[in-house]
Formats: sequence, structure tokens, C-alpha cells
Amino acid sequence: MRIMAITFEEALASVLPLARTREMCEVSLPDAVGEVLARDVIADRNIPPFPRAAMDGFAVVWTGRETERPYRVAGTVNPGTVWSGEAAEMDCVRIMTGAKVPAPFDTVIQIENAEVGREGTVRFPTPARRGQNIAREGEDVLRGAVLIPSGTYLSAHHVATLSSVGQWEVPVYKRPTVAVLATGDELVEPWERAHGPMIRNSNAHFLLAALKHCGFREVRYLGIVRDDREAVMAKIREGLACDFLVVSGGVSVGDVDIVPDCLAACGVRKILHKIAVKPGKPIFAGGSPGGGIVIGLPGNPVAVMVHFSMFLRPLLLKASGATEYLPKPILLPLVEEAINKSGGKKFSIGRLEKKGGETRVVEIPSHGSGDFVSASRAEGVFEIPLGASHLPAGEIVRFYPIWGNFLSHEG
Ligand code: AMP
Ligand code: MG
Repeated sequence: MRIMAITFEEALASVLPLARTREMCEVSLPDAVGEVLARDVIADRNIPPFPRAAMDGFAVVWTGRETERPYRVAGTVNPGTVWSGEAAEMDCVRIMTGAKVPAPFDTVIQIENAEVGREGTVRFPTPARRGQNIAREGEDVLRGAVLIPSGTYLSAHHVATLSSVGQWEVPVYKRPTVAVLATGDELVEPWERAHGPMIRNSNAHFLLAALKHCGFREVRYLGIVRDDREAVMAKIREGLACDFLVVSGGVSVGDVDIVPDCLAACGVRKILHKIAVKPGKPIFAGGSPGGGIVIGLPGNPVAVMVHFSMFLRPLLLKASGATEYLPKPILLPLVEEAINKSGGKKFSIGRLEKKGGETRVVEIPSHGSGDFVSASRAEGVFEIPLGASHLPAGEIVRFYPIWGNFLSHEG
């Protein structure tokens, strides 16, 4: 059977429209990290909300003649308090960082530039600038401005902003549900004995771990299924109840690669079955009768690892409501030449090397798509574009720092 290959970009573009968001729900602020915001977060007041002292010191009404005469200290303003005294000419108030600067004062002279005298007086030997050491009301953000746009993947620093606008209940998108199925007569689970021709199922457990890492909690593990039509179809039907069904193995063109046929028999509409990319090539994507997405990855562990981040994760993140769902590359030079014999695009695994102030990409020698031990030493993947059979040392490549930290380039 001959299957026509499309480019990696065409493949992703043809499946992305199927990745639709679910309804939104509310989580409380401590649970918001790792979720995708479902509504713009708006400033409920100006930031800062009042003219704020940026230094400990003395608030004065600026005249340009601060150095000429001593001032009388008319009171003290601490953060969180309001000063309501009367100020005469040549009066100042002692003020602490973070306090609201009371009218009519417009300038703060830091304590280091003040000489405190006896009987409540102070001298300012250094000339002052009008408005110095005061953060103006609204100088950071004006009330009503969008602080965090909907579709943002929330991380810890967003929690500070959410807190500052009093958003305790945070609207987020419900994550898609995901089913994971491993196929192969040769597979046993990690807790079982692996003898003779049997190998341990690492793909499913990698996928479950990677999904967990990315914040997908409604994940159904369907276990290992034998390469048997009836058994595979029964598991597929179970998996189709989820928004995503991810199948490992059985999508190639070998005698026991029955997954695409079984999917078709279960009503899954094929979108693609071959991508001009290495590792991978036989990758199946389809639409389930219920509107979900089915992705079949070849059983090779490195292909599963690469395409979790490069192919599946963008779909999952888009379906989670994230506006930035594609991995972001950084452009870095190669330490050594890299070869691509595949004729399509190649994702090679690599790690970063820092030498003499420069960060460069080192390709990790691998024995092929089955070499997951080498793959686990990688920090990311880099691209050898379609049509390039050889990249010389020093060539700038697109490096995706995805390994081990799937969301380090979060949107
Ligand atoms: P397949 O795509 O089913 O032809 O499998 C390709 C290769 O990946 C074979 O060497 C399989 O033994 C191996 N493989 C398949 N499934 C898994 C799995 N779940 N964990 C580890 N290796 C696997
Ligand atoms: Mg197989």
C-alpha cells in the first residue's frame, strides 16, 4: 500500500481546525497556574492606585528652593494610612515607601539626602527634582486596560497580576479529555516480566507523564491491546468517548499495522496518514464521529517523544484555548554538521552547549527512532528543513527547547 506524504506544516494545518475548545469553568486562584485563561483580565483600578512614595524620606511641595531653609516635619505617613493634617508653607511630612503621598505634596526627598535637626526640623542639602521618588497614579496601567488577554497560559507571574486586581475566581477553559492506547503483541507493562521477544511499554507511560506535565487531568489509560482487529476496535470505541484518542503503534504498513483500518471501521474519518518528516512518516490523524481527534503515532519511542511536542501538543493546547500553541524555536548555531537522509523535514534531537559566551546546539548521536535512551539525554529538537540533506557546522538552526519541560515556551 502506498500512502502519499504531505509536509509537516500542511499536516498540522489540516488537523488544527478540528482542535476546538470546550466550555469554560472557574477555578480559584491557587489552582490557576497551568490553566488557560478564558476571559480577559481587566485592571479594576489604576496601577498604582494613588501617588505612591517610591522611597523612604520626606514629602515636600516642590519650589526649587529646598536647600535654602529648614523644613518643619508636620507628621508621618506610613503605608496603608492617610495623613489628614494641615500643611503650612515650608512644612514637610515624613513618608515611608509604599505610602500614599498626601496633597499638596508632589515630591519626595529620600532619607539619604536629608539632615534631620532637633525639634522636628529637617534640612535638604541636595537640590530636588519636581515629582522625584513618586510613582504617579496610573503610571503602570490605567483602569480598564487588559492586563492578561484571554487564551494566555497562566504561570506563576500571572498569579501576581490576578491577585492585584482581586480576581480570586479565575475563568479558564476546560481541558480536553484524552485517551491513550498502546498497541502491540510484543508489549508488556513496566510492572510485568519482559522475557524473550517481549519489550516493555514505554510509550503509553511517556504519553501519560507528558500529558500530566502539561496539565491534562482527565486522561483515560486504555492499556495495551494485542494486534487483533476485534480487540483493537473495542478499545478504539472506548477511546472515542474522549476529545482526543492517542494510539501508539500499529499505524505503519506492516502486516500487523491494523490501526488505520480499525479506526475506519469505527467511523473515524482519515485526514492524513503519512507526513514527510523524520522521525515519524506514518502518522495517522483523523476526526472521530463525535467531533474528537484521533492521532496514531508510530510505535518508535523517539517518534512518540518528538511528535508529542511538535504535533500533538499544539493540537491539545489549541483545544485547551491557548492562543499560542505552537512551540517557539530559538535560533542557534550547530556545533557540528548535521545530515538528513530522509528527503523530508527532520527533527534531530540535541542539547545545548555553552562555550566562550556562546550557546550552540549539539546533535545527540542516536541509533534511530528506537533509541529512547539517547533521546532522554536531549534538551530539545532542532529542525533540518525539507530539501536540506546536510547542514554545515555553524549553521543556524531552529531549536525547540521542549525536552523534559514541555511548556517552557508557553503561550
Ligand atoms: P509499530 O509502529 O507498531 O510498528 O512499532 C514500531 C516499533 O516501536 C517496534 O519496534 C515496537 O516494538 C516499538 N513499540 C511499539 N509500541 C511501543 C510501546 N508502547 N513502547 C515501546 N516501544 C514500542
Ligand atoms: Mg506494532
